[in-house]
Amino acid sequence: MSNSDVIYETIILGSGPAGLTAAIYAARSRCCPLLIHGIQPGGQLTATTAVDNYPGFPEGIDGPELMDKMRLQAERFGAQFVEGVVTKVDFQERPFRLWVDEELYRCLSLIITTGASPMLLGLGNEESLYGRGVSVCATCDGFFYRDREVVVVGGGDTAMEEAVFLTRFAKKVTVVHRRDSLRATPILADRALTNKAINFKWDSAVTEIIADTSGVTGIRIKNLKTGQESELTCDGVFIAIGHKPNTALFADLLDRDDDGYILTQNGTETNIPGVFAAGDVQDHQFRQAITAAGTGCMAAIQAERFLDDLPYDPSLSCQKGICRLKS
Ligand SMILES: Cc1cc2nc3c(=O)[nH]c(=O)nc-3n(C[C@H](O)[C@H](O)[C@H](O)COP(=O)(O)OP(=O)(O)OC[C@H]3O[C@@H](n4cnc5c(N)ncnc54)[C@H](O)[C@@H]3O)c2cc1C
Repeated sequence: MSNSDVIYETIILGSGPAGLTAAIYAARSRCCPLLIHGIQPGGQLTATTAVDNYPGFPEGIDGPELMDKMRLQAERFGAQFVEGVVTKVDFQERPFRLWVDEELYRCLSLIITTGASPMLLGLGNEESLYGRGVSVCATCDGFFYRDREVVVVGGGDTAMEEAVFLTRFAKKVTVVHRRDSLRATPILADRALTNKAINFKWDSAVTEIIADTSGVTGIRIKNLKTGQESELTCDGVFIAIGHKPNTALFADLLDRDDDGYILTQNGTETNIPGVFAAGDVQDHQFRQAITAAGTGCMAAIQAERFLDDLPYDPSLSCQKGICRLKS
């Protein structure tokens, strides 16, 4: 049996907290959604060893372990998994069509949970230092830096929010920014500029993150106006230069905001009935595992209601979440 004989009631793109939570709910209600993993099985949390804020794990949990548990839970209820990346989608006709390389998949409803990737400085060792001094999320990791010295890289809204937030924990917060003024909205910029616990290194770029076997020990900075280089000792580097939602695939197909995040309404509905979006791909504000999981749950429930409301199609025979054309 090839995939082209099968029409899934629900396909889920992405295997982060949003996708796997959607899979758990969809599998428990109708059974057998198909989840396509993408290039990063388990999503962003697989890059960190210390998830301290996901409810239910009082001692904290390893990111990969948490994601394995979610996958096992979805498997227990019958979710199916495909390795691979969706390279093309077609929402013009129903069922919707998607391709993983040359392989065609069809579905009556689709849940998009392709996430948003944090932008990095391109220094080579950033990702390998996740959990050992490099962070892309002050809400997630600020707590680990009590009475320590941290650097925030960036000059936009997120960077200023993170810098101010980190003053609750760190004894010293230094913002390193490429320009001589902030890009952040005036209210957030003022809040950071008037906070005495925050120092600024203007016109400066981080050229190296210095680390030993236990983690980050400092950074090397270049002043972009004078060319002068210097070192700054610190225990943590928070990179806050933005996120890129993984939505290029849906350009011209789905309504997106100016930054490329999928626009949703009434929960997780997109502008195409039957296509839902959950997690970081539609959320530039919270970007947390628990909020991604929460919207994944919402998307599965909304997809189920959508399927329930579909008019009876006499040409289809559907059982346990999988339909076939009647011969
Ligand atoms: C280093 C690091 C540490 C973090 N620590 C915490 C923390 O401690 N606590 C917390 O709450 N949050 C933390 N976060 C944030 C959290 O990881 C995200 O908010 C969460 O993972 C978002 O979940 P998601 O399911 O929306 O997307 P993601 O986890 O980004 O998953 C996206 C999925 O989509 C797949 N995908 C992408 N494109 C395609 C495609 N074309 N076809 C098929 N699949 C595709 C990817 O392979 C991936 O599986 C951290 C993030 C990072 C990077």
